[in-house]
Parts: sequence; C-alpha cells; structure tokens
Amino acid sequence: MSKFWSPGVSELTPYTPGEQPRERLIKLNTNENPYPPAPGVEQVLRDYSIDHLRLYPDPDSRALREALAKEHGVEVEQVFVGNGSDEVLALAFQAFFRQPLPLSMPAISYSFYPVYCRLYGVDYRTVALGDEWQVPLEAFDPQSGGIIFANPNAPTGHGHGRDTIAALLERVTECVVLVDEAYVDFGGESAVPLVERYPNLLVTGTFSKSRSLAGLRLGYAIGSRELVEGLERIKNSFNSYPVDSLASAIGVAALEDKAYFEACREQVITTRERTRHRLGELGFEVLPSQTNFLLVHHPDHEAAQLFVGLRERSILVRHFNTEALRDFMRISIGTEDEMNSLIEAMEAMIR
Ligand SMILES: *Cc1c(COP(=O)(O)O)cnc(C)c1O
Repeated sequence: MSKFWSPGVSELTPYTPGEQPRERLIKLNTNENPYPPAPGVEQVLRDYSIDHLRLYPDPDSRALREALAKEHGVEVEQVFVGNGSDEVLALAFQAFFRQPLPLSMPAISYSFYPVYCRLYGVDYRTVALGDEWQVPLEAFDPQSGGIIFANPNAPTGHGHGRDTIAALLERVTECVVLVDEAYVDFGGESAVPLVERYPNLLVTGTFSKSRSLAGLRLGYAIGSRELVEGLERIKNSFNSYPVDSLASAIGVAALEDKAYFEACREQVITTRERTRHRLGELGFEVLPSQTNFLLVHHPDHEAAQLFVGLRERSILVRHFNTEALRDFMRISIGTEDEMNSLIEAMEAMIR
C-alpha cells in the first residue's frame, strides 16, 4: 500500500509466475522447452549488426508478420505480433472485452485471464469443466461480452478439434471468441484455418514453448482484418515498438527451420507419452495431454508433499494451491534424462 498509487492498484491480484530458481535444478515448472532454439537463431545472434540497435525497430514488424502469415496461410494484415503472447492477450482484453456483458471463460484455465479482468475492469463468468476435464464449449453463453479459453487447455492438457471450435463459432457470432493456442504444436489442432470464415475468431500463439524462445518474449494473434486493426489501435496507443529488431530477426529465423521444429516437438511428444506411461505404473492418475506438460494426481500421496520431496531432490514442478487443483501437480516435459530423474525420484518417494 502506498498513498502514491492510483486508486485500485492495491486491490489488484497480480499473476504469480512459476519460480525461476537461481540454483541448478531440473526445471519442470513453467513449460519451457528443454531443447535449444533452432540453429538459425544462433546464427542471427552471431551475425547481428550492432548498428541495428541504434535505430528504432519497424513499428509494424513487417518481416516477422510476413513470416507468420506464410507459416499459417493467411494474409499479413491478419497477423498481429507482441512482446510475448501475454502482452497480446492484455491488448486483446482492452480491445475486445471491455463490454457491457460479462466475459465467459472456463473455471480452470490460464490464471492470467482473471488477472487481466481485474486490471481492465472486465466482469466475467466461468463455466465448470466437464467430466473429462474438457472445456464445455456448449456451455458458453452466446450473450457474452466475449469468450476466452486455451486450446489445448492449461493446466489440464485437454484439447478440442477444429470442428468443435467451428460449432461454437456457428452459435456465437456477436462477440469475440479468443482461442489461446500456446500449446497447440504438441498435438492439438489449430483453429487458424477458421479465421477466414469467422470474423469474430482471434487465435493467439507464442514462440515461448514449441519454439524454445521463452526468454525472447514473442507472441502473436491471427484473426480477421478488423480484429487485427482493433489490436493495432490499442498497441499504438500504448507502445509503438513492443517487438524489438533483434527479437523480430530471431523470430523469422525460428520459423524458417521446419525440420528442426518438427524434430523438437516430436521428441517432446514421445517423451511425454513415455513419462505418462511410467507415472501410470507408479499408480499416478495422469490426464491425457496434447501439451508439453502432464497434470498428475496420486491417490495415496499428497501432491503438496510430493512437490516438497521433489524439490529436496532438486526437481521443480508446479503445484497450484487452489481448491480445484490442490491434489495435482503439473509437470513440464523435459529431456529424456530429466524425466528419468523425475521417475526415479517419484519411485524413491512412493515405494
Ligand atoms: C505460456 C502461456 C502463455 C504466455 O506465453 P508468452 O508468449 O510467453 O507470454 C499464454 N497462454 C497460455 C495458456 C500459456 O500457457
């Protein structure tokens, strides 16, 4: 509390990011990619002319948007980029969700959404997840100020196919439907091909997870020209240069190397399925996942205790101390070696 703060600042509940430890730990708590970025990224860093840093970057990030447009089969005017998808989401809340009707979101999803609601004064309603932990798209009220959900969802890992998203968009036509695809590359189905047909669909993505660039801060949105223009109006009223020139160049290089990208994501998927199987053998209930993490629960062991035990063995996972998730741990998929260490630690605690 401070008398210098604007009214309302002391009432905010900021997002709590996963810990970034100083000591060397096996870090399976924030869904980073265990593999390095594409080799072309390193080349950009080696060749980058220091003189570029003297100048402001392109405010429209044209080169990066063109590369994303090509990658996703859309026009460059349908692509928006920002300083991480968290920033893109924040701008989308301002551009589309400050409406008279409340925003709708799943009761369990990315915990940043309610944080933005409070920050921007957006009223919201939640819908409970279904029996299979799926986001019940049929439960979303078309009379909403907007709809937002992650697909595949976090931290549950469940994802809907494109047809199911299309069915939602047939029903909901009067507000923006924002589909957060931070994890789509690990086995989900992207809704991007639907943006041509549904002008109210906005899909967001990130370079942080499947492109191994969480430290760079690069995210994007794809949608109709009118939605992208709305985002640009907010962006240009806030910060004309959210994406620096180095980040742009690195983003382009990361998109170019398709073979590396495929190999990386396939390895994460293979390791995920192997880990899921081995945790199952130890008596864990493990939700099916289309992401680079697993949500796990053990019927005979408290998640909070397992979390502490892992930490003592230098392994960091995520435990959410909320009513719905208290019995679970979210475990990011690391390298094969890292997951072997995790399994060994679990074995030692459970046996
Ligand atoms: C990681 C994550 C983001 C944020 O990604 P950044 O681009 O690193 O800001 C957004 N949405 C979900 C669901 C995420 O898990």
